[in-house]
Amino acid sequence: MQILDGNLVSKATRDELKIKVAQLVAEGRKVPHLAAILVGSNGASETYVGSKVKTCEEIGYKSTLIRLEETISEFKLLTAIEELNNDPDIDGILVQLPLPKHISDEKVINAIDASKDVDGFHPVSVGKMVQGLPTFIPATPHGVMLMLEHYKIDTKGKNAVVIGRSNIVGRPMSILLSANTQPGNCTVTICHSHTKNLKEICKEADILVAALGRPEFVTADMVKEGAVVIDVGITRVEDTTKKKGFSLKGDVKYDEVAPLCSYITPVPGGVGPMTIAALMKNTFRACQDKN
Ligand code: NAD
Repeated sequence: MQILDGNLVSKATRDELKIKVAQLVAEGRKVPHLAAILVGSNGASETYVGSKVKTCEEIGYKSTLIRLEETISEFKLLTAIEELNNDPDIDGILVQLPLPKHISDEKVINAIDASKDVDGFHPVSVGKMVQGLPTFIPATPHGVMLMLEHYKIDTKGKNAVVIGRSNIVGRPMSILLSANTQPGNCTVTICHSHTKNLKEICKEADILVAALGRPEFVTADMVKEGAVVIDVGITRVEDTTKKKGFSLKGDVKYDEVAPLCSYITPVPGGVGPMTIAALMKNTFRACQDKN
């Protein structure tokens, strides 16, 4: 069994970008500028946005963090997005999800200029991805593909099972794995909360992606010997032994599943760092399109 080390692959990707940014600076060209909007003060969202801003600094990108009150109106949020759309220095815009209940995710995502949609959630980006055209790919599934590529995992003709069908992880993951690319070319089954015989379906998977957000849901009896297991799940579980009062759990019962696998991602240190690396790649691309 080999661990798919997200920290290592993410660092390699970030180092590559750092070199490219240094080149842009040397040539007197524009460096990428990412704007992040954080509404309210959800603990996990604070952490995610904080790491994104920190990673921008590390690579040499400019970043702007806009903090808005939990109670802000949808109209004011849409206005803030419009200002960023119209700012020529801003290359990428992300609005950290989840948003408060009184704000429509859909309206917010649609308001972002598609050429700055570094999260890849805008319908234009999704449509292009489905058609296999160059575009921004949602960061988490993009990160998984980068990891499969880095470890030269042969995916062609393999049975891939994705648990979860959200617009940000499961659905785009299933599209990318089925695309006529390497990695890709899998025969994909997408499972969700209404899937029958989930255990039997998972057991057929050469590549199993767990993205449902249920800690330790995937157990050894669901996994085929030699499978590649990608654990996307991150759930904060109360843990009084930890200073923060919680620990992070994946969707896979790691200790019993890992010995069965050919490759597996740990949590933390697997898909999480790859998500940030993929976002940084998207931001570079957004800037490159203008440079
Ligand atoms: P979501 O709640 O939007 O979607 C969960 C999906 O799982 C749904 O499609 C649902 O149908 C399916 N599901 C739920 N229970 C199921 C069950 N018992 N059997 C089969 N399917 C079931 O969640 P999401 O936004 O896609 O995130 C999924 C997980 O991935 C969460 O733990 C989230 O924190 C994590 N996540 C991690 C990263 C990262 O960078 N590592 C990024 C995004 C999300």
